[in-house]
Amino acid sequence: MPLEEAAPAGTITTKLSAALGWARKYSIFQYPFVTACCGMEFMSVAASHYDIDRFGAGLPRFSPRQADVLMVVGTTSHKIAPVLRRIYDQMAAPKWVVAFGVCTSTGGFYNDYATVQGIDTILPVDVYIPGCPPRPEMVIQGLMLLQDKIQRQAGGPRR
Ligand code: SF4
Repeated sequence: MPLEEAAPAGTITTKLSAALGWARKYSIFQYPFVTACCGMEFMSVAASHYDIDRFGAGLPRFSPRQADVLMVVGTTSHKIAPVLRRIYDQMAAPKWVVAFGVCTSTGGFYNDYATVQGIDTILPVDVYIPGCPPRPEMVIQGLMLLQDKIQRQAGGPRR
């Protein structure tokens, strides 16, 4: 019996999606948008000791057009918020956003007129990494959560 008849409908598509997801989740080109002290911990995660190259995420891109993960690191002020939004808009789909640290996720203890109270008020966030700053292990866990999400989304609707 020919393979096309033996296999249930959609088998090839499903396998292709899984392969695509696998390739995508290990090809993370991140754009680091670093504004504040969380950046020090970000650099520590990116250095050799924690080796995020294991996750295919070791190579940053400083052009939004070449990046697929926007890593927002540090406090976001209302003054810089339009720049952040513009960078997000310049990234090609599929794209994902990580909120690195409590300031980025919620405004943290900067509950004032100048600070964005969570970047999800200006763009969609896929993974939140809490902490002030987050420990590298938490960042790696966040990265793995993002990889799961990328794998699950492969072949599905893009936003
Ligand atoms: S979460 Fe803490 S370490 Fe990170 S930017 Fe805010 S104050 Fe700085």
